[in-house]
Amino acid sequence: MSKIDSYLALLSLCFAMAFTPTQVRSESSSNYHNACRSHWIPDKLYWPGQTINFNQKIYRARWWSENKSPDQYSGPWNIWKKLPFVCPDLDELVESRRIMTHLRAFQAIADESDGNRAAATRGHERSLDYISEKLQDNFVLTKQEFSYQSWTETEPPHLARSLPEPFEYVHDVDFATMRWSGSGSPEPSSIQAIAIQLPPGEEPNSSASGCEAGDFYNENGDSLVTGKIALIQRGSCSFRLKAENAAIAGAVGALIFNEGQENRQGVVRGTLSEDYQGHIPVSGLSFAKGAELVSLIEEHPELKVTFQVQGQASTYTTSNLFAETREGDPEKTIMIGSHLDSVPEGPGINDNGSGSASLLEMAIQLEGFLPTLKNRVRFSWWSAEESGLIGSTHYVENLSEEQWQAINMYINLDMVASPNFGRFIYDSENIPEGSRQIRDKL
Ligand SMILES: [Zn+2]
Repeated sequence: MSKIDSYLALLSLCFAMAFTPTQVRSESSSNYHNACRSHWIPDKLYWPGQTINFNQKIYRARWWSENKSPDQYSGPWNIWKKLPFVCPDLDELVESRRIMTHLRAFQAIADESDGNRAAATRGHERSLDYISEKLQDNFVLTKQEFSYQSWTETEPPHLARSLPEPFEYVHDVDFATMRWSGSGSPEPSSIQAIAIQLPPGEEPNSSASGCEAGDFYNENGDSLVTGKIALIQRGSCSFRLKAENAAIAGAVGALIFNEGQENRQGVVRGTLSEDYQGHIPVSGLSFAKGAELVSLIEEHPELKVTFQVQGQASTYTTSNLFAETREGDPEKTIMIGSHLDSVPEGPGINDNGSGSASLLEMAIQLEGFLPTLKNRVRFSWWSAEESGLIGSTHYVENLSEEQWQAINMYINLDMVASPNFGRFIYDSENIPEGSRQIRDKL
């Protein structure tokens, strides 16, 4: 679900991009057919698509062999042009039909594992086993185990108001619990709007509602929110800071609604981060529902809100998986990775079975090129990405200076499947120079 595992992309410096499986083709493209023709192997029958390894080069049959060399071939001209062998590049060998086989396997794993392949579940472990089994013969496989804290909502949240008529807000449509929210179900409470800017400013972050502790106090220094729920507008500072300021001032809950610009209308779905110290429940609201509440409490100061959230932080253990070639210069390692974990809500076939399956097929097909590798290649399947890039962060933070220096570049695959695809590279204005070089090369 994330962008480029940016943490890792950042570390990559790709000055020496010498990973060129195309080197198996000793001649230039214009000599392409001739090159293969000279390596015709008689006395065998090959079928179209079959690859063979000959003289440490990979060839693929493009036509049925008839136990004749092309020189002896006497078929019609158009068949004659289709010489029996071509030298394919790695990208020709990584075919979508083969990737689909792995995706079907991931789906089957999810079907047998509570419908998902999320980190620290059976579905994820089985996905790791599936990859390991395919690569164990030709790669050095390493599992990197780690533990992490994650927050999950354990009961559906509840939000309702009393006036002008009782109204129950719809979870996921009108409001959504912030990750790492505190739990609790305060008594029906009054609401206090905090430094709201309506109509909203033209630019995002025009509002600084709740960013200052002083927003929650009157000029006499009395708290505006003791025992109340703070109604706060998005903008200018983190959700965490707004919620903690509310909690310090004595609020029993916080509702943070979207700021109101064109692309700030929907339900705010935020995270308070695991460092959140406010302990009070916090939900995001859509701009419409938030602005409506602001005017309703002006008309009906006695309006009360019932607000209830139940969540829990737990410790989980899971693993990243690495498959590394024995061939190639270890001081110039090229890393390619993808997160293997799905969200808990589904099998994660596009996000990110697609990246993981593509990577797996890439590794399988690379086997034929191994003797020709200049660079060490390390494939990685990250875990706990969906909980906040935890697996890849763990990896980077535990690299020694030497290991760090030995990595030439890193490429990340996430959600690469589509029925109506276009080729894109995740990009940003603020990428470091190394990532910029990779991008330009791709
Ligand atoms: Zn993803």
